[in-house]
Amino acid sequence: MLSQLGDDAKLLAGGQSLIPLMKLRFANPKYLVDLNFVPGASYIKESKGSLCVGALTRHAELEHSAVSAKIPIIHDCAAGIADVQVRNRGTIGGSVAEADPSGDWAVVLSTLSTTISCVGKNGKREIPLDQFIADAYTTALEHDEIVSEVRVKLPAKHSGGAYLAFKRAAPVYPTASAAVQLTMEGDICKDASIALGCVGLVPIRPRDAEAALRGQPLNPSTLARASEAAERAADPQPDMRGSAEYKRKLVGSLLKRAIEIAARRARGEQVVAGHIYA
Ligand SMILES: Cc1cc2nc3c(=O)[nH]c(=O)nc-3n(C[C@H](O)[C@H](O)[C@H](O)COP(=O)(O)OP(=O)(O)OC[C@H]3O[C@@H](n4cnc5c(N)ncnc54)[C@H](O)[C@@H]3O)c2cc1C
Repeated sequence: MLSQLGDDAKLLAGGQSLIPLMKLRFANPKYLVDLNFVPGASYIKESKGSLCVGALTRHAELEHSAVSAKIPIIHDCAAGIADVQVRNRGTIGGSVAEADPSGDWAVVLSTLSTTISCVGKNGKREIPLDQFIADAYTTALEHDEIVSEVRVKLPAKHSGGAYLAFKRAAPVYPTASAAVQLTMEGDICKDASIALGCVGLVPIRPRDAEAALRGQPLNPSTLARASEAAERAADPQPDMRGSAEYKRKLVGSLLKRAIEIAARRARGEQVVAGHIYA
């Protein structure tokens, strides 16, 4: 249908980004191609060491899934998006396809080795997430392709993650956010993967912050080095949510807290975490 209808057509999934844009007249598609009628597009399953999530899977389904109990960073993200109404409608496929710089999923998925499956009339493409999201609101999708699946490599043993986002109220996007996935070897951080949200046009990977943790014990001075490196890597824009300097400090402090929670989870502790409200 997308091929037949051309540029006048737009896909509709949960409608939680598209419909508000249409109400504001920022989007005026002539045709809506409703994915909700496609059978079998919503699922959560494990296969060959990966977690496979159908594009039409709702945030709420992920929030309440067994997998989010197993991979807590998934729960932190899914349970914190907006409010229950948005989570009941909004989909993971819609979120990655929208590539909103303030969206939560792309930040979390950036720490987890994620591949996006895209299907079009010319077949299927597998695109690593960092190549899929090209810029703010811009992805590698062709007009007549859809996101069919989000695939995440299951985290290694002794690894734990956390996602913290700071926001003023439930139905607004975060001011800044930090996701971290750590693999521990005793008290030493063997590997670290970090992504920062709302402080750039796409999720920012602060490589110096990851390097500051790798091979180190997670003590206050290591955490301070990682947090300072994250602040340097952030590239926030001032807006009604705060000045650039404020967001820079905020993201550094969110990262510090997220590292502490991720390390405790990597040790097998059950730690409740998620979005933090002003
Ligand atoms: C009040 C409010 C607060 C919100 N707060 C947050 C928040 O804090 N954090 C957050 O992350 N999100 C937030 N959202 C957005 C929400 O998460 C959306 O669900 C999500 O961004 C888009 O998913 P959707 O399924 O609703 O997509 P839709 O709105 O249906 O579509 C969004 C875009 O993606 C395209 N699309 C949809 N599905 C596919 C697909 N499978 N393949 C290719 N293209 C596709 C559509 O054509 C459209 O361009 C909020 C939304 C609202 C209304």
